[in-house]
Amino acid sequence: MASLVIAIDGPAASGKGTLARKIAERLGFAYLDTGAIYRATAHYLLRELDADASDETAAIKAAEYVRDHLTAQMLASPELRVEDVARATSKVAANAKVREILLDAQREYAKTPPEINGVMAGGAILDGRDIGTVVCPKADVKLYVTASTEVRAQRRFEEMNAKGEVVTYDDILADMKERDLRDSERIVAPLKPASDAFTIDTSNQSPKDVLSRAIDIIRGHLAEQVAKNAP
Ligand code: C5P
Repeated sequence: MASLVIAIDGPAASGKGTLARKIAERLGFAYLDTGAIYRATAHYLLRELDADASDETAAIKAAEYVRDHLTAQMLASPELRVEDVARATSKVAANAKVREILLDAQREYAKTPPEINGVMAGGAILDGRDIGTVVCPKADVKLYVTASTEVRAQRRFEEMNAKGEVVTYDDILADMKERDLRDSERIVAPLKPASDAFTIDTSNQSPKDVLSRAIDIIRGHLAEQVAKNAP
């Protein structure tokens, strides 16, 4: 049986990462946080090349480095989660050449997900901004996870406070608005729901409710597919 692909897109702090991880756990799927790939690119550009996010040559060099050295460990680094990296990431990610360099690795992951503890994965879940529209336009199930800007800024604020970072809610909100705008108005692979995506608004829902809604959608959709393909 071909392995399944679930695409999850949405803006920052919408809850898509938490949801993707939980679905992956529940279904025994491999999970790829594609935002971390772009973050790793921005991180390499800032910290190793000592360049500015607007430097296209450096951005391309950084993307090539990440493509050639990509590991799960690289993507899990907490150094990718700091605000200056996040800000630089949305600038670097608007570069068409950078996106092209990083595209194959994402598609390959979807096609051939890694084993989980020595067991074949049931499928792959990828989350990001353009998974359902560009990376995996033929994904079996597409979810678009969103929440109001204020709720997302509040979540990010609490997350950073808990990490001991000194930030204000207003700064986070302004930053988030700027990043949303850049991600959704860029020419190449802008953030938008795929026409066949199911939208889940997490503003007023607990993570548990969001998970059960997503699982219902996935089950329902897969049952429909099976019925459609029945002889
Ligand atoms: O999801 P996360 O907030 O970690 O993503 C960081 C940035 O990476 C986003 O703001 C966006 O600019 C970029 N990104 C992207 N395409 C993806 C995933 C992330 O452009 N598929």
